[in-house]
Amino acid sequence: MMIGLPGRRTRTTIALTTTALVASLALTACGGSSSAKGTDGKLNVVASFYPMEFLAQQIGKDHVSVTDLTAPGVEPHDLELTAKQVAGVQKADAIVYLKGLQPTVDQAVDQSSAKTKVDATAASPLVDHHLDEGSEGGDAHKDKGPAGDPHIWLDPARYAAIAKSVGDGFAKADPSHAEDYRKNTDELVTKLTALDQEFQAGLKDVKTKTFVTSHAAFGYLADHYGLTQVAINGVDPESEPTPARLAEVQKAAKDNGVTTIFFETLVSPKLADTVAKDLGLKTAVLDPLEGVKDPSKDDYLSVMRQNLANLQAALGAPAGTPSPAATS
Ligand SMILES: [Zn+2]
Repeated sequence: MMIGLPGRRTRTTIALTTTALVASLALTACGGSSSAKGTDGKLNVVASFYPMEFLAQQIGKDHVSVTDLTAPGVEPHDLELTAKQVAGVQKADAIVYLKGLQPTVDQAVDQSSAKTKVDATAASPLVDHHLDEGSEGGDAHKDKGPAGDPHIWLDPARYAAIAKSVGDGFAKADPSHAEDYRKNTDELVTKLTALDQEFQAGLKDVKTKTFVTSHAAFGYLADHYGLTQVAINGVDPESEPTPARLAEVQKAAKDNGVTTIFFETLVSPKLADTVAKDLGLKTAVLDPLEGVKDPSKDDYLSVMRQNLANLQAALGAPAGTPSPAATS
């Protein structure tokens, strides 16, 4: 396995001009209050997409005002930012993002004068899961960001490491509430550790270790729990598989006693449906948590527990295996 290196920063003439402008604004700002806070007295945080927003909310609670660049229900890969959003990134006190997932966000962050920039991949470096082979268009990320599979948040242990780096970042950005940020981080890490243990126990004795998914988002989850992910698509959910790739997937499904083809919530299930029909298999949801449709009902923890239950059903967890705790 190869650890992804940070991508080279591209700087255009426009970028330099913007940087100069922002630098002069930053100088003006330095003349004012020494606190890194917005006008409402809260730390003004920009999060790139749902998993980063969840960390910022859980750790910042009442001390932060969080803006998510990716609206609920929107697929975050290849997000385009509006001019207003770019301005928001420029003005943020703190940014929480995942370098390599959203090239336009990476660019805006590079040009932002925010004092605190928490890159999730610094806490949990990307790994190349070699998903590109045989999947046409699966290499869509290659020329846009650092090499490697960006879906690190789907391994609760890695997500906990990212949570800690967000806690450290907020404590530095807003020292007067550092103690609260540490306490909130500890609480969240405890919940993520419990979730990790539920996955460990729940997937230990399943009949088959192989699962088939439309979008190759679960490489880290598979690695962490000793499973094998067979992806119809590459890391880009909108890419189309080649007939050769489809034949490979069908063979892997047959050889490994696969019962279910997983699809995700934010992208059309058509492809998974077609493959499942051809093989006479079921379909079920495995949610990559790239966005949560209704944040008032679901969060990272509840969706992950649903994923665990769906994996257990598809992989054949023996009777008596601990099932996910009821979500409250
Ligand atoms: Zn994805």
